[in-house]
Amino acid sequence: MNSFSSQLQQLSLQGNLRHLPEMESHGTYAIRNGRKMLNLSSNDYLGLADDIALKEEFLQNLNLQECRFSSTSSRLLTGNFPIYARLEKRLAELYGAESALVFNSGYHTNSGILPAVTDNRSLILADKLVHASIVDGIGLCKARCIRFRHNNYEQLERLVAESASQYDKIFIVTESIFSMDGDESDLQRLVELKRKYDNIFLYLDEAHAFGVRGVQGLGCAEEQGLIGEIDFLVGTFGKAAASVGAFVICTEEIKQYLVNKMRTLIFTTALPPINLAWTLFIVNKLCRMQSRREHLETISRKVRDVLNPLNGSILSNSHIIPYVLGDSERAIHTAEQLQREGFYLLPVRPPTVPQGTSRLRISLNAGCTDTEVENLVRALQNCSSKL
Ligand SMILES: *Cc1c(COP(=O)(O)O)cnc(C)c1O
Repeated sequence: MNSFSSQLQQLSLQGNLRHLPEMESHGTYAIRNGRKMLNLSSNDYLGLADDIALKEEFLQNLNLQECRFSSTSSRLLTGNFPIYARLEKRLAELYGAESALVFNSGYHTNSGILPAVTDNRSLILADKLVHASIVDGIGLCKARCIRFRHNNYEQLERLVAESASQYDKIFIVTESIFSMDGDESDLQRLVELKRKYDNIFLYLDEAHAFGVRGVQGLGCAEEQGLIGEIDFLVGTFGKAAASVGAFVICTEEIKQYLVNKMRTLIFTTALPPINLAWTLFIVNKLCRMQSRREHLETISRKVRDVLNPLNGSILSNSHIIPYVLGDSERAIHTAEQLQREGFYLLPVRPPTVPQGTSRLRISLNAGCTDTEVENLVRALQNCSSKL
């Protein structure tokens, strides 16, 4: 047997074989195999992605002259349409920062920034649970990297104290809300650590917090009044902002440096202007969507109250709420059961999460009604009492 098929067979035996699901979306619902289910698996956290009124407003105001569906080159050649500068100016303004730089995706951002700004005189200290795109970026770096235990700041402080003087620059890399556990990092503590040294840079991925946290929806750093302390504040447009692409908030100097050195910016075709226009349209609305953010927090609390006590040491503090089931078969079985009851939940298995922590990942969105969430809570309670 060739090695591809034997590896696929092995994945299948472990319950870890993946497929591309065939499905459709309608508003907050997902339709699969003819079954209509409340979609609790997308990252459309504010429920904007299929908002008809928003789409109409955008399309009605579209200037066909400016509207293009491709950039047909890198931003460094002819792809840097005026809409880029407008979006970046608006982002910098919202964050009260010097500069913003837009990229094609969060994956491009995280796999490109660290390789550009580090060298063999740098040390990267990254949380054990950072997103795969950050891990892949680190893989491209010449710098030494140490992964610290998830949110373990004692270990992080020890690592910094041991090595601060041996490196030119230390990059502490983490997320504000974590993708799989839905818990948060302690930004205040990271900022205090940074202030004790003069060679620490904070790199914060706010993919799950952008649009969701803070009065203007700018993320956890905004919520905690710490935007100015983060050297690389990364957000993505593909989740709550219902668009595509990503950005970093940084100094003008770092922006210029990235424009010159960052391969995932330089060697790729820029996002189409039409996408940038939609992103800017949404970003301008996002900062006034406080009531959606409040509703999301209210319904999230209801689901956390049921699931947090069942999850051992994993404690969600956000709209991403895991239901940890242990082995993959059990996660698959429970997902199927909840799908039959009308909730589109998917099992998350190794290697996405550590062995023995297969789970359902519930990501709530502000489009879910109170009644829908009450039904979900009842179904989860039923499910857990049978296990
Ligand atoms: C989704 C995500 C990314 C990737 O962003 P894309 O725009 O989808 O490529 C990066 N970091 C985190 C933490 C994410 O959740």
